[in-house]
Amino acid sequence: MKIIMLGAPGAGKGTQAKMIAEKCSIPHISTGDIFRANLKEGTPLGKKAKEYMDQGLLVPDALTCDLVVDRISKDDCEGGYILDGFPRTVPQAEALDTFAVIDYVIDIDVADQVLVDRLSGRRVCVKCGATYHTSMLNGATKCSVCGDELIQRNDDKAETVLARLSVYHDQTAPLIGYYEAKGLLKKIDGAQGLENTTQAILNALGANA
Ligand code: AMP
Repeated sequence: MKIIMLGAPGAGKGTQAKMIAEKCSIPHISTGDIFRANLKEGTPLGKKAKEYMDQGLLVPDALTCDLVVDRISKDDCEGGYILDGFPRTVPQAEALDTFAVIDYVIDIDVADQVLVDRLSGRRVCVKCGATYHTSMLNGATKCSVCGDELIQRNDDKAETVLARLSVYHDQTAPLIGYYEAKGLLKKIDGAQGLENTTQAILNALGANA
């Protein structure tokens, strides 16, 4: 099963993609995670990506497509995969069409105001990547999973969040029509809570929970 997870930043596509990957036993491929891992390791790709990420802009298509082609050609992707955060532009989707046949596109739909609140309140563990919202933390600054420090991602700062949403509407939202026209799109309400959203996605995929 080859699945694309679409959705604005903060729609919960990362969280949902992880759950679906686990339930369907396929790899979860997040371009954002790959860029962040490169950034942490200080690789040339990470340094290049940081210039764009910190401003809420998209990393250039060529750079992004190359790393996805490389990743999905690995052996563990033979039985399928779930793409989280890719494609994010129509040219990326057109490039993907030349090297993969996608079975399902899930679009997690959440209103902008909810997205701003989710993103600007999001905190992540520097070590294990667990995510939290300030409204649940009661002032806690440490990860309840591994005990390490919680931080706000640079691109979750208020001004960057607005830039990311604007980039989403201009460059990524057109993919909804792109995949609708191909008959692949499944629209899911992403404001119905974590578990209900996962169940709705599994239903749309025809997968057993
Ligand atoms: P995410 O974790 O998916 O929100 O991605 C974080 C950031 O990584 C984005 O705001 C972009 O700067 C960059 N990024 C992730 N995926 C892509 C992509 N497919 N195309 C271009 N930039 C991307």
